[in-house]
Amino acid sequence: MTGQRDDDSTKPKVGFSGRKIIYDEDGKPCRSCNSLLDFQLATGRISIPSPGKVPAAKMAAPAKQTTPASYPKVEPPDVEELGRSSWTLLHSIAAKYPQKPNEIQKGEMKQFMTIFSHVYPCWWCAKDFEKFIRENSPKVDSREELGRWMCEAHNSVNEKLGKKAFDCNLWEKRWKDGWD
Ligand SMILES: Cc1cc2nc3c(=O)[nH]c(=O)nc-3n(C[C@H](O)[C@H](O)[C@H](O)COP(=O)(O)OP(=O)(O)OC[C@H]3O[C@@H](n4cnc5c(N)ncnc54)[C@H](O)[C@@H]3O)c2cc1C
Repeated sequence: MTGQRDDDSTKPKVGFSGRKIIYDEDGKPCRSCNSLLDFQLATGRISIPSPGKVPAAKMAAPAKQTTPASYPKVEPPDVEELGRSSWTLLHSIAAKYPQKPNEIQKGEMKQFMTIFSHVYPCWWCAKDFEKFIRENSPKVDSREELGRWMCEAHNSVNEKLGKKAFDCNLWEKRWKDGWD
């Protein structure tokens, strides 16, 4: 499932985001590993603008096209949309985890996180997340433990991406109780 062919010198190596463009095993750009703009650059849908110009895709978002049956043509997720949706799911699962889980629930949660790290669609992200889980086994003895562990897992990705760490004392407000 993983792998990268780097042998084609005509392929762009770095995207508008300044990050390395990730390619799948078959040499095609990985949609769920790159931002939408970088993916569009790698697929040749947009090109690098001359200095001072903004990429066409940034200037005007194309109107959402519809099929004859008015079915909205929503694009597959890029790395950011996939990440935001996945974190929403993961933190929400932690928020609903029992305060006193039984042994079956604990075992299932550990298995779920391990399998999740194997199947996460951004394979390039998944490699690091698998390593995080190997080195920091999911803490599943209570909701509080799991919620904090999830927050720390998310912070490890935040750190890797150069983002500010989230205060894990606030995880329940953000994902369970709300701020009021
Ligand atoms: C398992 C996994 C691995 C990933 N690996 C990569 C990677 O290697 N490279 C890459 O480019 N992207 C990766 N991503 C995506 C990345 O983490 C972000 O989701 C994406 O960059 C969008 O970021 P964002 O700033 O919108 O907010 P996100 O990081 O998606 O966070 C969404 C919201 O969660 C809250 N939040 C932030 N941090 C925490 C925390 N520690 N605990 C609780 N709540 C928090 C904030 O309210 C934030 O607005 C990964 C995602 C997942 C699920």
